[in-house]
Amino acid sequence: MSLPKHAQQYLANQFKYAHLNAFVSLAEPSKLASYANLKIERHDVKDKPIAIKDNICTTDLKTTASSGILKDFTSPYDATVVKLLRDAGAVVCGKTNMDEFGMGSHSTHSNSGAVKMQRCATEEERSAGGSSGGSALAVASAQCWAALGTDTGGSVRLPAAYTGVVGFKPSYGLLSRWGVIAYANSLDTVGILGKDVEDVRAVFDKLNAYDPQDPTSLPPSTRARLQNKKKAFFRIGIPLDYNISTLQPAVRQAWTRTLKELYESGHSLHPVHLPATQHALSAYYILAPAEASSNLAKYDGVRYGSRAEGIDGTPESVLFAKTRGQGFGLEAQRRILLGTFTLSAQAMDNYFIQAQKIRRLVQNDFNRVFTTVNPLVDDMPKSDEDENTVDVIVCPTAPTLAPSLTSVKEQDPISTYMNDVFTVPASLAGLPSISVPVRIARDDLAAEQPLEETVGIQVIGQYGDDDLVLAAADVISRVESMSQA
Ligand code: GLN
Repeated sequence: MSLPKHAQQYLANQFKYAHLNAFVSLAEPSKLASYANLKIERHDVKDKPIAIKDNICTTDLKTTASSGILKDFTSPYDATVVKLLRDAGAVVCGKTNMDEFGMGSHSTHSNSGAVKMQRCATEEERSAGGSSGGSALAVASAQCWAALGTDTGGSVRLPAAYTGVVGFKPSYGLLSRWGVIAYANSLDTVGILGKDVEDVRAVFDKLNAYDPQDPTSLPPSTRARLQNKKKAFFRIGIPLDYNISTLQPAVRQAWTRTLKELYESGHSLHPVHLPATQHALSAYYILAPAEASSNLAKYDGVRYGSRAEGIDGTPESVLFAKTRGQGFGLEAQRRILLGTFTLSAQAMDNYFIQAQKIRRLVQNDFNRVFTTVNPLVDDMPKSDEDENTVDVIVCPTAPTLAPSLTSVKEQDPISTYMNDVFTVPASLAGLPSISVPVRIARDDLAAEQPLEETVGIQVIGQYGDDDLVLAAADVISRVESMSQA
């Protein structure tokens, strides 16, 4: 069978980059015939190889969520997002490695071993970000055309930033979560990774549909109220609270340069304040583990999950503890403990309820700065002329470039959580948000860093302004490529 050049290239790269551990399983060779008509020029999902994060159910490949407890699970059905992709002619080319159940920022907490980013053989192994690190790296190393991930607190945007691809988290509730293994239901969002904004938009257009099987899917009546705003020139908000002291200089310089280029291209810049941001991370790390602990309670080896071996006939309490102890990795066990504690009677008021209040403050901050009124909130309508409001916010996706895996191993869990400081606020508010790679000027890079290093610049928009966010991301990519020309 003769395959088009691009199809051969993807397959060759899957072989060549197997050591990066981006995939946990690959499609059967019999699927290869599907690539026979692949035309890479078109921004269209038809015939394209798309990788699926391993917490999204597929009938033809196992779905393990990179957890020992689901190591033998094959789903009897496809997740809605997978079905929609297949209906549109895309080919599921494999399942990607991730942090167990989506809990992590470096894709190192995996039953299949860590994802390892290495741009050249001499470079030290670095973090591909997490938890959708496998999906991001599979796109970055051209092992697939695009990939699906999930983003609960940044898991699509952070890996996109570290690996140099585009990563989009749509508004909460736009893409179906039916058949997606839950981590924290009130935050979980299916996201898309691609090499450019147009590819990501093409996938989004196929997936953006109401799903009656998902109770959190945004109903058609509310979808009809979302405006499809078009803008030639954007009012861009610069969140001053995001200019934190731990921002790596290369990241700050890339952010500043992007803003300058946007200004020179006719867009206007406006400082905005998002004061609740400083508490967003702590609120997230209370709410997400709390939801996770109740979601993961069902994996006890009796109702769901693999049962630990050699313990038949033991009392259920022993079975439960042993199955869970063997099935879950350390980070998952840590989160379950944390979540169970915050939901306990003695901690509920001081932690869980306080975190919910902060979540509301974060949402209010965003509603105050955006020109578009949040369609989910009854609020005073704002005028488009309002001097103080903005169309989108532009800020870094992460405070640093991709760290080495050695330094990640040495980090304590709290420092690891700091990677999510800029991605978590949009997650708490359910807002659309995208990370776009922006190159770093050679002068801003330490001598030993590779030339193709990029910084992720994040665009955040009001709930339902997904098209506007994609359009702004496109503008950033264009001014970026013009400045490189
Ligand atoms: N790093 C964050 C966490 O561990 C975000 C993960 C995600 O978005 N799935 O919770």
